[in-house]
Amino acid sequence: ATAVATGLLGLVLSAQAPGTRAAELQKWGVHDEARPMPPVVDPGPAGPPALVPADAIVLFDGKDLSGWTTSKGAPAKWLVKDGIMEAVKGAGSIQTTRAFGDCQLHVEWASPAPPVGSGQDRGNSGVFLMGIYEVQVLDSYQSKTYADGMAASLYGQYPPLVNATRKPGEWQTYDIVFRAPRFDQSGAVVSPARLTVIHNGVLVHDAQELSGPTAHKARPPYKAHAGKLPIGLQDHSHPVRFRNIWIREL
Ligand code: MG
Repeated sequence: ATAVATGLLGLVLSAQAPGTRAAELQKWGVHDEARPMPPVVDPGPAGPPALVPADAIVLFDGKDLSGWTTSKGAPAKWLVKDGIMEAVKGAGSIQTTRAFGDCQLHVEWASPAPPVGSGQDRGNSGVFLMGIYEVQVLDSYQSKTYADGMAASLYGQYPPLVNATRKPGEWQTYDIVFRAPRFDQSGAVVSPARLTVIHNGVLVHDAQELSGPTAHKARPPYKAHAGKLPIGLQDHSHPVRFRNIWIREL
């Protein structure tokens, strides 16, 4: 009986393993410097811009920022040139004019080359699902910071499973499958936000559930919000570049 019970427990534990790292989250404080950095995986060289699926909504095609505004709805003032857009210090974060919930999102980005600064002050930007849940953009190529704030981290909560960051200046891809959180009429969480993230072709989050909004030096609880909200790109004072951004609603 003991063997059967142990076997079943093993089965249950292994069935829970993928996609849930909630126990790990409890072990580490937010931005805990002692939390280990994940192993480095060389993703290989950057390719050309990814092909755009026929049913995708193109959010940035390299020509203009017509699909983007500031957080206050004013025209976005990021630089657009040579088919890319670049964050402009002081111009503020930008967001899509359209709102999205569950989605597949493709983003290509490159951190400044040569690199300037260190830690969080090095090629920092971010992709904000619903404007609330950040997949960190950072130059984490041979550059150390707290693990839950490195490139492809779910900021302040989960480091990526591996560090697949390319060199500064090289194009990198995020392919994100996002499930928006669901709330009941009282505002209680029915199901949390969930993200699968592929960085440069390498899986770095497997249906990871968030504990709440991502935040700096905090892990705040969920607050009920609309089912669809704009996607944001962060101005963190660094000239991070973006190209070929598209989305498929799920
Ligand atoms: Mg950021």
